Amino acid sequence: MSPSAGDPEYADAYLNEWLTAMGLGVEYVRAAGDTVFYLDENGREVPVLDLACGFGSLIFGHNNPEIVAAAKQILDAQIPVHAQLSHQPHANRVAAALNTAIRRELRTDDSYIAIFGNSGAEAIEICMKHAELERRARIAVLSAEIGENIAQARAALRAGSAKIAPGPHISAELPVAAALAAVQKWNAERLAKRPIYLTLEHAFHGKLIGSIQLTQNEQWRTPFVGLASAARFVPVDRPDALAQIVADEREFLLDLVLDGATVQVVERDFPIVAAFFVEPIRGGAGLIPVAPELAREIEKTCVALGCPLVTDEVQSGLGRAGALLASSRLGLTGDYITLAKSIGGGIAKNSVALIRRDRFRPEFEVIHSSTFAKDGFSGHIALKVLDMLEADGGAAYRKADELGARLIAELEAVRAEFPELITQVCGLGLMLAIEIADLSASRNERIREQAASGSFGFVLAGYLLREHRIRVLPAGPGWRFIRFEPSIHLADAEVGRIGAALRDLGAVLRDQDDRRLLPQ
Ligand code: PMP
Repeated sequence: MSPSAGDPEYADAYLNEWLTAMGLGVEYVRAAGDTVFYLDENGREVPVLDLACGFGSLIFGHNNPEIVAAAKQILDAQIPVHAQLSHQPHANRVAAALNTAIRRELRTDDSYIAIFGNSGAEAIEICMKHAELERRARIAVLSAEIGENIAQARAALRAGSAKIAPGPHISAELPVAAALAAVQKWNAERLAKRPIYLTLEHAFHGKLIGSIQLTQNEQWRTPFVGLASAARFVPVDRPDALAQIVADEREFLLDLVLDGATVQVVERDFPIVAAFFVEPIRGGAGLIPVAPELAREIEKTCVALGCPLVTDEVQSGLGRAGALLASSRLGLTGDYITLAKSIGGGIAKNSVALIRRDRFRPEFEVIHSSTFAKDGFSGHIALKVLDMLEADGGAAYRKADELGARLIAELEAVRAEFPELITQVCGLGLMLAIEIADLSASRNERIREQAASGSFGFVLAGYLLREHRIRVLPAGPGWRFIRFEPSIHLADAEVGRIGAALRDLGAVLRDQDDRRLLPQ
């Protein structure tokens, strides 16, 4: 129930008002499959086709009967839901199932260690923390090596048996003590620097203190820049951009290497980049998959920097892209992989960060934990979901891909009819979107104003809900992309219905019919 007029509001007051203004202020009272229901003024259920599907968390739809039955069984069996710091074999079973599926799909013998969390953002932050541990271990090795070299060089310099070779960093004229102090100062300053994370422009990786810095949304990110390490956002359409950023960010320590009667001042690469986070299908960009050439550049860069590549599959993983992992279809192999949304089967909160065994630092198992992570309920649900995904040789993935292809064909057909309004169809599998042209120069004043407001996609979503009982949510820069993320059980007939609704929306926009588009 929405609060009645005059009731004090303690949650979502501002958000609800805004949703109402967008035509999205609806309370759904029931959900099944790809349908959500609200009640009309006579108390009758009104069905709405839900293409937002939990921001991509409902690969099997709302309240999937098989998953609900499993949930009931789990609860009836009184399995321990919270039994922290005991042996919890369900966690290992989920991790084992994920490893089996990954080995099959990536055709690899590698294995991944699982750390569980509660949300997508937590899985991202698990990776940020683990990458920093890895980086610190590399720094410790490097510092120890440099420390030994400097001790040797210092002894030779003090004994007068060697001199500092002329070079760009330390003047050969400096007295020995001053030269050594300058080296130590240079190194101490680098060692005190925070790590940098690389990520792609318009990335979305979550909204917690660390992960928000990897999410390129200025309103959400910039108030908190002082709280966590920074990201460098890599443009995706300039082939030289990545190399340039890496060159600009390069840091080095100074080493003193004794070579006969000379001490050489040598630059040693300092691992300032802790990790490269990549969303295989960038939600913040409007559901755009990473191009193969960029994928190759990213992998090469990670190898050159020695940093882990984190493929953020929070949304794209577990079937949505027509595969276990979207990255496997795009030529990316993560050293770390994050999964969340679909693993909860639409009823549990769960997430997992997978870290390739050869990089995993065992102490991390206790460094990161949460009261609610790895709980028995979400673990058993995850087992059920993985079973359903992998059943019949991966029929669910094929279904996502086939249904996605039908939806793409329909969206492309609509685009062909309104090429000036729908500028592209993008995405992969059942993670699809259309881009709506920028109408901020429309000759209709009301449409022009709405289009310039930066929330036009929400207005379009309001229209589709009001006129067609279809629920969509926007994405991408300026919220000008409309996303389509149904479950694999979306009925064929609904694809035609989506096309018909978009044709109507196209006609309204073409005719600049503000009276139909915008609530009075
Ligand atoms: N990464 C990606 C790719 C996502 O799509 C999301 C959520 N939309 C997140 C991280 C954050 O997940 P959560 O909302 O569960 O914190």
